[in-house]
Amino acid sequence: MFFHVILTGECNSQCRYCFGEAIDDFEDDSSGSEVDYCLPKTMDYDVYLLARFCAHDPECVLTFYGGEPLLCVEEIKEIMDGVKAKGFMIQTNGLLLDRLEPKYVNRFHTILVSIDGDEELTDFYRGEGTFKKVIRNLRLIKRNGFMGELIARMTVMEQTDIHKQVSWLLNNGEFPFSSIHWQLNAGFWNDFARRDFKQWSEGNYNQGIRKLIRFWVDCMEKNGAVLKLYPILGVAYSLLHGEERGLLRCGGGWTNYAIQTDGHIIICPTMWGMKNYYLGHISHADPLKLNKIFVGKPCTECDTYNVCGGRCLYANITKRWNGEAYSLVCATVRNLVEAVAKEIPRIKELVEKREISLKDFEYLKYNGCEIIP
Ligand code: SF4
Ligand code: SF4
Repeated sequence: MFFHVILTGECNSQCRYCFGEAIDDFEDDSSGSEVDYCLPKTMDYDVYLLARFCAHDPECVLTFYGGEPLLCVEEIKEIMDGVKAKGFMIQTNGLLLDRLEPKYVNRFHTILVSIDGDEELTDFYRGEGTFKKVIRNLRLIKRNGFMGELIARMTVMEQTDIHKQVSWLLNNGEFPFSSIHWQLNAGFWNDFARRDFKQWSEGNYNQGIRKLIRFWVDCMEKNGAVLKLYPILGVAYSLLHGEERGLLRCGGGWTNYAIQTDGHIIICPTMWGMKNYYLGHISHADPLKLNKIFVGKPCTECDTYNVCGGRCLYANITKRWNGEAYSLVCATVRNLVEAVAKEIPRIKELVEKREISLKDFEYLKYNGCEIIP
């Protein structure tokens, strides 16, 4: 099982799509859930409880999460020293990566670092100076011996040209990434009316995705390289292996959960404080016997459900975008799946010619990449 360990709700950044939205977003969602507004700002349970909880699952992987988890360096060290997990990962904005000693950083299996593309775009979304500081820290951890997987985690919305920005992250002189994931900022806030999502998704994003997928297969042809562009890789893996299960691909609610600062277990970090979805507390619960929660309509009646898996349980439950607005998000999912499916014959041919191998498509599932953006 995978668990996001939420170390704090606080953050040292004020990104447009998170801090900015939280300020403008006054409306309730339609989940009907009671919300706990009094959660401790930082972890207030004994690490021993977490160690005992994890000990029930030999495959327990912990991902530090926030807010910004590196605001809690001492807690990270205490957990890494005191809990026998199969692995540790972290999702961070990267601004404080220099604060954690290399002996801990180098133990991370994966670091997911938020970066939205080139300097101009990253600083536009995340604040001036962010890009340079993050790149400086990434170079530092590499120099200090970090050998794990480093995933650029992009948040994508109207100002993003997906093809241009992913290409830049792969091939740039400052810090080229070999693993990239992106998530659409869509359906998480009551913001559709003040967005330009329809025009952008139909006029820019969907085309960019199709171009990126052709480029991805071109790279296999030219260099024998299967690039770790997670949304494309994950869908291609499923289509190549006939894996159509209709399960949420982030693992949320069935193999990937989150632990709040008070020790309560929730479906995923975005459901922080939603009391109706508390699944127990680490002091009593067995990680292998947690209730499983699945998406409902409209996903369960959708023709793309088997590959998509429902995209996001939080969005499905809270329905912050109405059906018409959310159908635009679903159109991006269909576009992605169809464009990958179109390339499967070309990929199979390359496999048959042994220019690439099916093994090249393998990846650690539920590593924080949702697959369906
Ligand atoms: S495409 Fe949309 S409706 Fe269909 S399963 Fe995915 S999120 Fe649900
Ligand atoms: S996709 Fe949705 S349910 Fe899954 S981890 Fe992200 S916010 Fe949670």
